[in-house]
Amino acid sequence: MNAVSTLSAAALAERIFGTVGGLTRDDPGVSRESFGAGESRAMEAVAAIAAELGLACETDAYKNLWMRLPEDARAAPPVILGSHLDSVPHGGNFDGLAGVAAAMMALARYRGRAAEAPPLRALALRGEESAWYGKAYLGSLALTGKLGGEALALRHRDGHGTLGGAMAMLGIDTEAIRAGKPLLAPGDAAAYLELHIEQGPVMTARGWPVTAVTGIRGNLRHNAVRCTGEAGHSGAVPRWLRKDAVLAVAELLSRMDEHWRVLLQMGMDLVMTSGICTTSPDSHAVSVIPGEVRFSLEIRSQDAATMERFYDLVREECRAVEKSRGVAFTFDTRIDTAPATMDPAWIARLQAASLRLGSPLETIPSGAGHDAAVFANAGIPAAMVFVRNENGSHNPHEAMDIADFLKGVDLLTEAVRTV
Ligand SMILES: [Zn+2]
Repeated sequence: MNAVSTLSAAALAERIFGTVGGLTRDDPGVSRESFGAGESRAMEAVAAIAAELGLACETDAYKNLWMRLPEDARAAPPVILGSHLDSVPHGGNFDGLAGVAAAMMALARYRGRAAEAPPLRALALRGEESAWYGKAYLGSLALTGKLGGEALALRHRDGHGTLGGAMAMLGIDTEAIRAGKPLLAPGDAAAYLELHIEQGPVMTARGWPVTAVTGIRGNLRHNAVRCTGEAGHSGAVPRWLRKDAVLAVAELLSRMDEHWRVLLQMGMDLVMTSGICTTSPDSHAVSVIPGEVRFSLEIRSQDAATMERFYDLVREECRAVEKSRGVAFTFDTRIDTAPATMDPAWIARLQAASLRLGSPLETIPSGAGHDAAVFANAGIPAAMVFVRNENGSHNPHEAMDIADFLKGVDLLTEAVRTV
């Protein structure tokens, strides 16, 4: 027996998080760039530990990592346990990696008794985070043949290079992606199960260590909307002759904030964010009327129709502000990420497994996006287990207890045992 396979579950978890976190440290936090160096280092480290655990590893044509029990040669569609290995810049170590670690550990628990579980695969996906190329779920969309050629032209956050270029550097055949060649069709998998840290504050507030997820919010985005007005001397141009881009964007966003409030009162699920909003550092000055503002716009909801309705309101209000303030709004490519419902039968299975382990399982919706949404929308039954996590996510201060994580691993292991 080698060292890793004799570790306790807690020590093994610490080993996985410590090794991958250490190799991708980028203070503060970790950086595992989608289809980039940090993500590849994480992939290699995970594959090395999986091999030590006695799991068989394979990399697919789109460079995702698959792990299985070496003795499991059954042809039946497997249950896939997985998550992603990329992170946002200076992100936390558990976002994504927790799900991959859980998948490996659940799989390893069936070593020598593969017949007790359905055919299982652990999957480490690339490119889930939208922080690098402005679009989420790149790896799982490619896997299911839905990424499409347009995404290959998406520019890296630093303005240099494209997603297609980064993929080609890894040896991925981008023509296959452009052609929408899936590596996984709906009938190829019995289910996709993903463990993930919660990225909001609800579970900590409620005292729930693990939960099952009911659905995943989709989003509709523009990474860069441009509002063009007219620059001028701040002292010399009177109000009635101004075309102030900052005031125009401020008015647009306050109008949308009011629509948002009303739609929430009507019971709709909706959030709106303009996370980037800036005048140009090259030309802005205290004494210059801002002639241009660039801002991002993101709308999220569990309901596609609600997002569409709110988006129509955005475009309508843009036209109104253009008229009243003499500015022009120019929108870049709209990026849509569909919402998804988790599979009720798998939620019930997780709840039954939790009861067998001694406690009931609460359910919550996911405000953040996850690869499970892509699998669900591709016709593969999908479900998620959330693990309590303090201090939010997409920042270096994520705080997941290993004891909570191991409860999640136990739950996954038990849920697949009874299929
Ligand atoms: Zn994640």
